[in-house]
Order: sequence, then C-alpha cells, then structure tokens
Amino acid sequence: MTTAPVATKPAPAAKHSLSDAERPYIWIDGKLLPKAQACVSVFDHGFLYGDGCFEGIRVYQGKIFKCGRHMDRIYRNADRLRMEMPWDRHECTRVMRECISANNLSDGYIRLIFSRGVGTLGLDPRKCPKPSMVVIADQITLYPAEMYEKGMKVVVAKRPKTPTECLDPTLKSLNYLNNILAKVEAIDAGCHEAIMLSLDGYVGECTGDNLFIVKNGEVLTSPLEVGMLDGITREFVMTQLCNAGGVKCVEKRLKIEDVYNADEVFLTGTAAEMIAVTQVGDRKIGSGSEGPITKKLRAEFRKVVTGAHVPED
Ligand code: PMP
Repeated sequence: MTTAPVATKPAPAAKHSLSDAERPYIWIDGKLLPKAQACVSVFDHGFLYGDGCFEGIRVYQGKIFKCGRHMDRIYRNADRLRMEMPWDRHECTRVMRECISANNLSDGYIRLIFSRGVGTLGLDPRKCPKPSMVVIADQITLYPAEMYEKGMKVVVAKRPKTPTECLDPTLKSLNYLNNILAKVEAIDAGCHEAIMLSLDGYVGECTGDNLFIVKNGEVLTSPLEVGMLDGITREFVMTQLCNAGGVKCVEKRLKIEDVYNADEVFLTGTAAEMIAVTQVGDRKIGSGSEGPITKKLRAEFRKVVTGAHVPED
C-alpha cells in the first residue's frame, strides 16, 4: 500500500495504478490522496468556523452536469467571502475531471470545497494566508430508489430560515447549522426533509432542496427574494424542463397553505435530482402519489442526463 501522496501530474500514467481499496482518491491542494490519508488541519478555518463555501455537483456519463453554473456560483461566493483562490475556474474544472478519471466515475457526485485555509485560533481571516481546495468525487444515493416512485413525506420546520439580511442563503457556505437543525426536526418526525419558512411565513426551501408546487397545470415556486439558495436544478427546471414538457412555470410568493392545497409538490437539488412530495406533516398532497406533471418533468430530467448531450454549461 502506498503511503506517499499520488502526484497529480502526470495524471494519465498514475490513474491506472490507483487501487480500488483506496478510493475515492481525494484531491487536496494539489495532491491526489487515498481517502485514508485525505485530511485537513485542525487549524483550517473551514473546520473551525465554517469559513468557506462549497458545491455539490453531479456527474452523468462522465460529464460534469451544469459545470459552468457551479463554477459561476462557487467563484462568486468565494469573491463575496473575499477569498482569492489560487486555482481559477479552468484549473478547478480540470481537477474535477482528473478526480472523475482517477476514481473511474461515470455517474457520480463531486463535492467541491473552498475553505479559508489554515490560520490561527481566532476568527481573523487575514491570518489564513492561503485558501484550500478539496475535490471529492464519489457515488451518492440520497434517498431510496422506491421513494422516487412513491414520493416522500416532509414536515414543516418550526425553526425559520436565517433571514437573508443576516446570512444570504445564496452564499452556499460551509455553515449549514440552520438547515441541519431543521433536518433534525424532520428526522424526529420520521422523515427525510423539512420545509423551511422565512421569518414572515413564506415558503423558502427545504434543508437541501428547492421546492415547487403544481396547481391547475402550472408549476410555481417562490422567488429567490423569499430567501433560498439559487439552486442550479431549480433553474434547470424553470428554464429548460418546463419548456421541454410544455408546462408554464411562474414565480410567486408561496404560503404553506399553497403547499397544502397544491395538486402536486416536488423538490429539486443536485443530490436529490427531482422527487415528489406526497405528504406534508399529516396532510396528503393531491392524490397522495406522484402527480402527472412531476412524473413528466422527472422523465424529461432523465432524458437529458442519459442523453447524448449532457449540458456542461
Ligand atoms: N437549497 C439548499 C439549502 C441546498 O443545500 C441545495 C443543494 N445544493 C439546494 C437548495 C439545491 O440546489 P442545487 O440544485 O444547486 O443543488
């Protein structure tokens, strides 16, 4: 078993000698390491304070789905955090492709992390001279396969979303505590997801997914101003899948009553992809099973990601 870091260059020669047992190989600041050796410092401010940002990215047929959109989002967020990354978006994309290849991934998931990096104890980001970049390329199964056919139950979290004025949810930061505490509410209620409301009672998003409803043949979702992540799957549904499926999609501030009274509800996210919600708390949604529009959009989604042109834009 090799204990030395596996050099990232030249990748093609090295990749065939990588062993399955050590996978996934994880890229940290220029080195591709077997998972047992892939560690970050306890002085890393991502670890100490959640100071950093990240992306979850899907790989379909070896292609990086919506790579351009993910690069836009993470580099915009790094800028907002005033983190100057030593790797630009092209180098970052190259590293992700290297990880896909090193781990023999065809369909999988990439976790891309930008951390403030190693510093001193204390918050001061100026004491962290160099941000860190980590790329994990692996498999992911968020929900059991049958849940995609039957739909899922969610709850409404009692805890509201942190207001945008305090922490803008479009900043996909390494601090997910607001969402994790809502997720614990979901787990306590025996389900996988929780709907999070804004302080003034509008439907924002779930802990790791955006939310849509279907009413009278139209697809509706709250606008970003309510407070939610600008989901890349959300955008894909709104701008491409609804068009392809011939369904109208509009943004409207949704109240929880709109969700209860919807004909269909579904969630979108990179890891979750698209999944129907068939129960919210004690209330059955629509017929209680996946509705026809959700089914149609989900079929469109599969058509794109299994088709000849997986969009990398
Ligand atoms: N909201 C939250 C809080 C999330 O963590 C995610 C997953 N990234 C989403 C929505 C869905 O966003 P995307 O489609 O970009 O994965």
